[in-house]
Amino acid sequence: MGELENCLQCHALFVYNGRKICQNCYANEEKDYDAVFHFMRQQKNRQATLHDIHTHTGVEERKIMNFLRQGRLHIVQFPQLYYECDTCLGPIREGRICKVCSVKMKKELENTAATVVNKKHKLGTSYYTDC
Ligand SMILES: [Zn+2]
Ligand SMILES: [Zn+2]
Repeated sequence: MGELENCLQCHALFVYNGRKICQNCYANEEKDYDAVFHFMRQQKNRQATLHDIHTHTGVEERKIMNFLRQGRLHIVQFPQLYYECDTCLGPIREGRICKVCSVKMKKELENTAATVVNKKHKLGTSYYTDC
């Protein structure tokens, strides 16, 4: 007997099958993906925007962005497309976060590292003075 899970999309209970969404939602998602994929496969749709794809396929823009984020659709061939940065929701075309956020994150990491070094340094000095 499988374990029961709540579907991430429709919140229905379903028997866990290695996916976070139920069979229904999974089937729907595949149908959406197929529609988007077929639309984008046509050479004349290379300049399509998220909105164009939504109008032609009926698939929500958010879902299309998810396919892009997952790498299921190859964004390089579609100059008008983008998806959202994980952190600030700004438009990006590669990775999971935008340049601004990645610079910010790097700085934060550096700051944390610097604080640790500073603390060690201070501890070291106080140790020597105490002696
Ligand atoms: Zn579901
Ligand atoms: Zn960002």
